[in-house]
Amino acid sequence: MQRRDFFKTSAAMVAAAAFPGCGVPDGGVFSDDLILDWRPYTGQLKYTFTIATYSRTFTPLVLVRLRWRDFTGYGEASMPQYLGETTDSVTAFLARVAGEVLPRFKDPFLLDDILAEVDALAQRNTAAKAAVDIALHDLVGRIVGRPWWQIWGYNASKTPCTSYTIGYDESDDVVNEKIEEAAWTKVIKVKLGMGEKQDKRMIDLIRARLDTVICVDANQGWKSREMALDMIHWLAERNVCLIEQPMAKENLDDAAWLTERSPLPVIADEACQRLADIPRLAGAYNGINIKLMKCTGMREAHRMAELAHALGMEVMLGCMTETSVAVSAAAQLSPVARWADLDGNILLSNDCFSGMRLLDGKITLNDKPGIGVEPLKPFEEL
Ligand code: MG
Repeated sequence: MQRRDFFKTSAAMVAAAAFPGCGVPDGGVFSDDLILDWRPYTGQLKYTFTIATYSRTFTPLVLVRLRWRDFTGYGEASMPQYLGETTDSVTAFLARVAGEVLPRFKDPFLLDDILAEVDALAQRNTAAKAAVDIALHDLVGRIVGRPWWQIWGYNASKTPCTSYTIGYDESDDVVNEKIEEAAWTKVIKVKLGMGEKQDKRMIDLIRARLDTVICVDANQGWKSREMALDMIHWLAERNVCLIEQPMAKENLDDAAWLTERSPLPVIADEACQRLADIPRLAGAYNGINIKLMKCTGMREAHRMAELAHALGMEVMLGCMTETSVAVSAAAQLSPVARWADLDGNILLSNDCFSGMRLLDGKITLNDKPGIGVEPLKPFEEL
């Protein structure tokens, strides 16, 4: 056995022992094979997170590693309940990517072809697809030695400040504690849609302590367009800068009616999942909230930002509760976003990667290649 083959075989054996059933093919880490493996991870939330439709204390995540020759890229799937994905569905999907798609490719630069095949494996599974997409982008960025914001030609100094989310809570004491913790941020995001009385109570509690500009996310919680318009007028007098998804995502006519009359920009979140959704939203909303876990990752997110701008719409970047991997991947696009809600990693008490940082609330991109992240421990130990 030649020395190179020995190392290939040894590495494959070690990898197979470390990740039983985790998609490590026979090729080993020194080959031209694209080698995908993954680790389920539980993201612990600092606070119970409550929005109009549900409440939770943790988020299931799957961390992904994609290797080619001596390069390693990282990715992540975050699975909030409403996306309909689970650790089992994501790992089953990743096993199909590892078994059915990647063995046909030796060249990671074929991003279009690889990701089109990943997308074609199933109709949904957008978070699992995003995990592969992010890892592939990270890998390719590391191979060329450049961060994606630079590959895309963006100016890293043009990043917006991120908002920091204050979730709903019935207890004034808990809300006040969250408000204290948000004192550093330049933009607060508040989850409303609980009903007019409770919504106004949240805003009044914040305004009693902070003047910070507020983004409001109603998460489809407002039931009529007249009530929504009254709320928006009330909010506009209280230094609120935008309204996200005021009413049910299906109702485009009401969204258009509201957007036409609203003194504040109205942004589509639940109504805008992927690229193909955008044309019909033009005219009904002022902008879209792009999230990697909804839209299958960086490749489509980049196209969405370009299409939205071409249609005269604003771009907001959002995230789920996720580690610095997915947040830093989204942050690569932030120089072209007017607003960013990339606080997922700081809502976690157990982020396991370093990456994009916030300086005085402003998204600060680093010069590291790919998506600019490093695991805080060896991947095998996360
Ligand atoms: Mg939202």
